[in-house]
Amino acid sequence: MQAIAVEQGRGEPAVLDRERPEPTAGEVLVRTLRVGVDGTDHEVIAGNHGEFPEGENHLVLGHEAVGVVEDGGDTRFAAGDVVVPTIRRPPNGEANEYFERGESDMAPAGQYLERGIVGAHGYMSEYFVTDAEFLLSIPASLADVGFLVEPLSIAAKAVELATAARSSFTWQPESAAVLGNGSLGLLTLAYLEHVEEYDRLYCLGRRDRPDPTIDIIERLGATYVDSRETPVAEIPDAHEPIDFVFEATGYAKHAFETIDALAPNGVGALLGVPEPWTFEIDGGRLHRELVLHNKALVGSVNSRMRHFEASAEALSTFPGWFLDRLVTGVYGVDDVAAAFDDDDTTIKTAVQLSPYEERR
Ligand code: NAP
Ligand code: BGC
Ligand code: ZN
Repeated sequence: MQAIAVEQGRGEPAVLDRERPEPTAGEVLVRTLRVGVDGTDHEVIAGNHGEFPEGENHLVLGHEAVGVVEDGGDTRFAAGDVVVPTIRRPPNGEANEYFERGESDMAPAGQYLERGIVGAHGYMSEYFVTDAEFLLSIPASLADVGFLVEPLSIAAKAVELATAARSSFTWQPESAAVLGNGSLGLLTLAYLEHVEEYDRLYCLGRRDRPDPTIDIIERLGATYVDSRETPVAEIPDAHEPIDFVFEATGYAKHAFETIDALAPNGVGALLGVPEPWTFEIDGGRLHRELVLHNKALVGSVNSRMRHFEASAEALSTFPGWFLDRLVTGVYGVDDVAAAFDDDDTTIKTAVQLSPYEERR
């Protein structure tokens, strides 16, 4: 079967031929429909994030998958079920305490692998197998966009984690700002509008108009903030102090500027995965600002089954126009380079490994 992988030292995706996997007891064989591409895939391909599986010189890419059960074996899944897999797996197949508690997203480095990212092959192949406990059944109506469940689950988890950090008092947030107009930022903006129902939303980018992401931001009812004119720290002066900031740029200065963007008692969720970068900040002032205004910063990575469930539910409430405009291309294996294009007209792409045909 065909698979899309990055080979050691190559720095670009390639189509490889691999054996179709055989499920063992407790495992499900899934025929892959679509696999999304995100900023993390670009970081993995560039060699800036992730690891090859032990003893191998290539990594099958892809962590945002939707597929159809081909063989449910002895599990609760039946052929034809539309499913989405989670990402993290225990090293050596032996569940540690984090996996036993169903909280693998909170496991420290060394206690997890991530399919398509850290030490385990991903889902960009015609078929994949996985233990049934890592699969979520989704409605067949979401088969086309089910590859968005994983990235949206990242937003659901971060919002939950940040909100929990404000749970010891009566927090009534009205304003939220998403830093970053990439696919994670725009999915999060839609989540904050349709699920969290913030009164006022902002989204930060660094693009000139006309631009397809600015169109989406404004159609969602949010205000576009151009970081070249309004740096993050100046958002309170230009607009208003923000109750909830969601950083999805991976631009390290934004982590610290978020402290200034926040309203008293506000919280910032940091999602970006930047490269090391040394720069100057006034640490004393920012420390003081955090303390004297009860502000919080929360880092968040990955997500667990509960967030996948919340994400699938949220996805089904998103308007059709949003999904149509967000997904700028779905490409076959023959056109894999296009799926990994990263220009200003590309927002979210996916590779289609096989078409979805509903069972009669
Ligand atoms: P992406 O497509 O690269 O999006 C990043 C966006 O931020 C781009 O649209 C970029 O604008 C914008 N941006 C970067 N620097 C900016 C600046 N100084 N001012 C204004 N806008 C700026 O990546 P993504 O897939 O959406 O992911 C976003 C980040 O989250 C990445 O760092 C990724 O690694 C990380 N991530 C983390 C998790 C997690 O679990 N923590 C999960 C998924 C992704 P231009 O396109 O105009 O350059
Ligand atoms: C994935 C997460 C993963 C993170 C760090 C993200 O793109 O969506 O599942 O934990 O990268 O590797
Ligand atoms: Zn991702």
